[in-house]
Amino acid sequence: MKLVEKDHAWIELDMEALRHNVEFLRSRLPEGCELMPAVKANAYGHGALPVGRELESLGVRAFCVATVHEGAELRQGGVKGDILVLGYTHESELALIEQYDLIQTAVDLEHARLIDAYGKRLRVHLALDTGMHRLGESAMSPDRLEQFCRLKNLRLEGAFTHLCTGDRAYSGQQAEAFRAAVRALRRQGCPIKKAHLLSSTGILKFPELGGDYARVGIALYGLGSTREEKDRSLRPVLSLKARVASVREIKKGQGAGYGLRYRAEQDACLAVLTIGYADGLPRALSCGGGGVLLGGQYAPIAGMICMDQTLVDVTALPHVRQGDEAVLIGCQGERTVSAYDWAEAAGTITNEIVSRLGTRLARLSKEA
Ligand SMILES: *Cc1c(COP(=O)(O)O)cnc(C)c1O
Repeated sequence: MKLVEKDHAWIELDMEALRHNVEFLRSRLPEGCELMPAVKANAYGHGALPVGRELESLGVRAFCVATVHEGAELRQGGVKGDILVLGYTHESELALIEQYDLIQTAVDLEHARLIDAYGKRLRVHLALDTGMHRLGESAMSPDRLEQFCRLKNLRLEGAFTHLCTGDRAYSGQQAEAFRAAVRALRRQGCPIKKAHLLSSTGILKFPELGGDYARVGIALYGLGSTREEKDRSLRPVLSLKARVASVREIKKGQGAGYGLRYRAEQDACLAVLTIGYADGLPRALSCGGGGVLLGGQYAPIAGMICMDQTLVDVTALPHVRQGDEAVLIGCQGERTVSAYDWAEAAGTITNEIVSRLGTRLARLSKEA
């Protein structure tokens, strides 16, 4: 195993798992459809550059991000493929689209006019709203769609919509509205080369809806948003680890941590870990809501999670020593703690858990 530079706490990326997921997802893609991985939010917390570079080495030629700065960061890091910015970009930032050869989404007709007014030809994909009612020009307004084709500074290379449920009938209606709008745009002379609509749920549940790209995020990282949506063919890419900073004994009746929220019912032993909520550990995992692995065994979180430290109860684990590695997400020995465990304890989805993992964690590639 090759590792560089372990910080106080760190993320290990299983690149073999990422390669496996890419291969599996490609096998599900409909004819003519390419992966356009979503590497926004620092590749869902995994690290935009290590993930982007690995994907490029696997032949991925298009990426999507949420913001113009995320796109610029990928370019500066040497990523060469197409990079689509999915979100709104203010006119004051459009120079970065030009400078880094990014593709900007026009989130509606008003935004398209601002992009046109930038004065130089920028690459654009048009977002079409087919029922999510978030971003996108309404696919059902032919009068407004017509006007996109007249904006001379838009290099309109593509159009996309976003499916917002796992419901087959609703997704089918969205896809139908999308295809009709793209046909109308093309009839009016808009050179829409790339039309895309599938994300993770779509590619796993209804790949037949097709498109030129699949904008796959959470599935690429080997996760479903919830345990129910987990696909057994995918492998989690990320593990999260920290170290034992100190081991200490406390007497029956003594408390520990902020508010003394941990209370020792017997003489007890606590280990202090080098990770806290500033690293993305949800404070909702405090007081036994979550736990970690030490020497292959489970140690529940004791008391309130702090910003940079977390106490765990190791009374039953006498082998634990200062400097030991603790696994917060991942496997150790026979046992696993997963992003699903965290998400369930914190009342959220895995997407939020991994995308909020902090910037001060090192992202390291683990090669078997
Ligand atoms: C984030 C995002 C995706 C990726 O979604 P997953 O469910 O993680 O696959 C695709 N398209 C758009 C517009 C997004 O915002």
